[in-house]
Amino acid sequence: MNHDAWMQKCVEMAVQNVEDGMPPFAAVVVKDGEEIASAVNDGPEQQDPTAHGEIRALQKAGKELGSTDLSGCVLYTNCEPCPMCLGAVYWSGIKDVYYGLSIEGQAEFDDLPKQMYEEYQKEKGKRSVRVRGIIPHDADPRAPFVKQEEKT
Ligand SMILES: [Zn+2]
Repeated sequence: MNHDAWMQKCVEMAVQNVEDGMPPFAAVVVKDGEEIASAVNDGPEQQDPTAHGEIRALQKAGKELGSTDLSGCVLYTNCEPCPMCLGAVYWSGIKDVYYGLSIEGQAEFDDLPKQMYEEYQKEKGKRSVRVRGIIPHDADPRAPFVKQEEKT
């Protein structure tokens, strides 16, 4: 299948997902021209705000390949990934993502992804989500990492 066909599959899966009462998102992970995993956003059904199509597809692909390292795979998604999903792509090692509708195109229907990208451009203290560092009195936040280095 070529890029066009993978994208068509994503769009068709997303349309079907809406027919099934779920959000309009779907994604496919491909490696060497073969489908490794495909998934839709099933967040409402799972009561999971992170259950975006891309996240679900990456989770399935990891299980399928028996690794968290999905480098060499390609992600197709009917919409440009939101910052959470793009972050997951970075964690996966995937270097190539193809989308149908851009973030700007999605904003016509839901502008949260666009707002999120804009938020990330702001300085830490000026974002709408307050993220604060805490260093506990009797614990070193570096301890888990130090422990990990000791084990390897
Ligand atoms: Zn997402």
